[in-house]
Amino acid sequence: MRVHFCGTRGSTPAPGPEFVRYGGHTSCVALATGAGTPAPTLLLDAGTGVRTVSALLGCQPFRGTILLTHLHWDHILGLPFFESGDHPDAQVTLRLPAQADGTDAESTLARMMSPPFFPIGPHQLRGRWTFDVLPPDESAEGGFAASGFRVVAKDVPHKGGHTVGYRVTDGRHTIAYIPDHCPTQIGPGPDGWGEYHPAVLELARDVDLLIHDAHLLAEEVATQASFGHAAADYAVELGRRAGAQRVALFHHRPDRNDEALDALVQRFSSSTVPVIGAADGLELAW
Ligand SMILES: [Zn+2]
Ligand SMILES: [Zn+2]
Repeated sequence: MRVHFCGTRGSTPAPGPEFVRYGGHTSCVALATGAGTPAPTLLLDAGTGVRTVSALLGCQPFRGTILLTHLHWDHILGLPFFESGDHPDAQVTLRLPAQADGTDAESTLARMMSPPFFPIGPHQLRGRWTFDVLPPDESAEGGFAASGFRVVAKDVPHKGGHTVGYRVTDGRHTIAYIPDHCPTQIGPGPDGWGEYHPAVLELARDVDLLIHDAHLLAEEVATQASFGHAAADYAVELGRRAGAQRVALFHHRPDRNDEALDALVQRFSSSTVPVIGAADGLELAW
């Protein structure tokens, strides 16, 4: 499996000279089956980072699946600017969490992506696009198929809208992707950073890589958890408890510059689980 970090920032893009090493694009991770250089077929979220997937594809049309964890701006804003998706020969299945009011997937997306908020609606993207909600409760059956991968989706607490985390395997290696997660909504947990609840423990169990919300620092949880995020310290401890091989801190706060993110990663230099700071353009392969 090859993992491309295309956008690692949370909430809003963060351009500027103090953000060049970790990057300023919002959430998007592209996955390819096999460790060689095959084209990515599965995209997790479509923040502004999804624009860079076109370069990975050599501007060829995208043929695959986009799975959204939820519909906050930072996870969808790149969608209409994804050139390899907005292409006459693209074939894209986009799936998102079911909405409480039963609104279908395309109509849900169109609430953000249609005039007067945006010039075109989802149905005006070129190529063949299919919009659907995630299959209901299939996780117990080993998940659903998605463009060469199997995926388990589980609800996680966040703020404002149905949010899921994903566990993705190509049959040989497995990653978990939980970019927006507010574990303190369930309870304070043993260290005050939030509960290590069954859904995330199951998503992260024995994964090769846990990509997790690291928006906050432990010392910020008390005053800022109401924004709906987790502390980096929680992400690392979750990785340890779940038996993850490696933790990638993700969804960086937009005002956390390169220096601050270096310090954040350094905080975990003696962790029993190896910790990296996800950065735009980083690739990992097994
Ligand atoms: Zn977010
Ligand atoms: Zn969010």
